[in-house]
Amino acid sequence: MVDRSRGARPVRPDQSSCHHAMAAIDFTPVDRLSSWGRLTAAPHRVARPRFRDQLPGVVASLSSADPGLAIGLRRAYGDSNLNPGGRVIDMTGLDRLIAFDRETGIVRAEAGASLSQIIAVLAPAGWFPATTPGTRFVTLGGAVANDVHGKNHHAVGSFGNWVTRMMIHRSDGPPREVAIGDPLFHATVGGLGLTGLIEWVEFQATPIDSTWLEAEETSFESLDGYFELSDTRRASFEHTLAWIDCLAHGDNLGRGVFSSANWAATGGLRLHAASPRLSAPFGAPGFAFNRMTIGALNTLYHGAKSMSGGRKRVHYSGFLYPLDGVAHWNRLYGGRGFYQYQCVIPKSEARAALTDILSLVAKSGQGSFPAVLKDFGDIAPVGLISFPMEGVTLAIDFPNKGSRTTSLFSELDAIVSSAGGRIYPAKDARAAARMFRDSYPGWEGFGAYVDPAFRSAFWERVSS
Ligand SMILES: Cc1cc2nc3c(=O)[nH]c(=O)nc-3n(C[C@H](O)[C@H](O)[C@H](O)COP(=O)(O)OP(=O)(O)OC[C@H]3O[C@@H](n4cnc5c(N)ncnc54)[C@H](O)[C@@H]3O)c2cc1C
Repeated sequence: MVDRSRGARPVRPDQSSCHHAMAAIDFTPVDRLSSWGRLTAAPHRVARPRFRDQLPGVVASLSSADPGLAIGLRRAYGDSNLNPGGRVIDMTGLDRLIAFDRETGIVRAEAGASLSQIIAVLAPAGWFPATTPGTRFVTLGGAVANDVHGKNHHAVGSFGNWVTRMMIHRSDGPPREVAIGDPLFHATVGGLGLTGLIEWVEFQATPIDSTWLEAEETSFESLDGYFELSDTRRASFEHTLAWIDCLAHGDNLGRGVFSSANWAATGGLRLHAASPRLSAPFGAPGFAFNRMTIGALNTLYHGAKSMSGGRKRVHYSGFLYPLDGVAHWNRLYGGRGFYQYQCVIPKSEARAALTDILSLVAKSGQGSFPAVLKDFGDIAPVGLISFPMEGVTLAIDFPNKGSRTTSLFSELDAIVSSAGGRIYPAKDARAAARMFRDSYPGWEGFGAYVDPAFRSAFWERVSS
């Protein structure tokens, strides 16, 4: 399989209307397909369309007896991008730019194009996606299907807030172009790939004067410090986020480094490096990320930032995508893989619930590096079951230690539920159906938009 994680490939010119690929597409058996967390590796049958005119045939071949799922770069951590024993449609061969208006910043591209490829076209022209997740190695289809959020959620909302149109293929009719106001549009944003296959996405980009950001870093010694900094910084900074030390406890519970930034006005339009600088070895042993190394990383990071804090100019690649510098860092967790636990807690409950959560995590000694805290603002998502809501989101990686880890998660789930929060399906591999049903107001209505010829392991788990 072509490794698409290694750097920015240019988005290809649009040739997809040439009708040279009408032949039926095969689904090829693949022994082991995993998501980013590498918790499982199951056989799938994989189709790899290269042209848009192949999509109607691919989708027509799906059925409720043998359903499928469109997938992108498999950066979702859990089981929402897997269909074990079944079929998936790898969309990464459909990565062409269809249109880019340099005056208005409206971009239309095939859903398999990665944000890395899109940025390579946009940034030199003074445009950037309005918001992006913490890795640029996600496809447009994946960004829509999880309605992804970035460090600037409080200022601009999530990815779906910037999508203007999409083309969607379903098994029950011809492809449909949908826009805001169409119920299928709202079900598909954040719809986890279950409402059909997205062929292309059109979105509004945002103008930038420079590819650099003016950033500030400030260390804080406790959770209270986070809330103070967040309250004072969010009005004047577009991007805010805190890295926290999830092994710290007692008076230092929730200590970390708060980073905030705005796009710079000068500095030029330089692109990110073509490929990651480092790559984690394939058979990295599980002990590469153990308690001692994580503790050392956290202490070093916190200490270094306490000393170096202050203002500096940073390139977007370092600020927005710090983990993209090491390809395949997910292998460092070894063969058993890892989880990410990500929740959001409503603002009024956040301080108490996060204290309880971080105390439990610190006591368990299981949390890893990185762990992140970030405020979500009040811009409502357009997706029926989008994850973001106004409050504070916490994301922590956990090496998979079997039931020790999952029983800790059950305790965390109970805190999240009683605080009126929810967890993020893009990161989940094990939560109970009830957790989603009770915390997403749109969950019940969403079922009506699920195409019966589409299925994921996540949906199997939470809809039965
Ligand atoms: C290092 C790292 C940092 C991250 N940071 C963030 C963050 O800050 N914020 C955030 O929100 N997320 C974050 N994520 C999660 C990531 O943004 C999402 O999981 C995203 O959906 C992954 O996109 P993908 O192309 O890899 O899709 P996949 O993982 O392959 O699939 C994800 C979902 O998209 C669906 N899908 C993909 N393509 C299509 C299509 N063409 N049509 C219909 N459905 C489709 C799949 O069915 C699946 O449900 C991060 C992930 C990593 C690894």
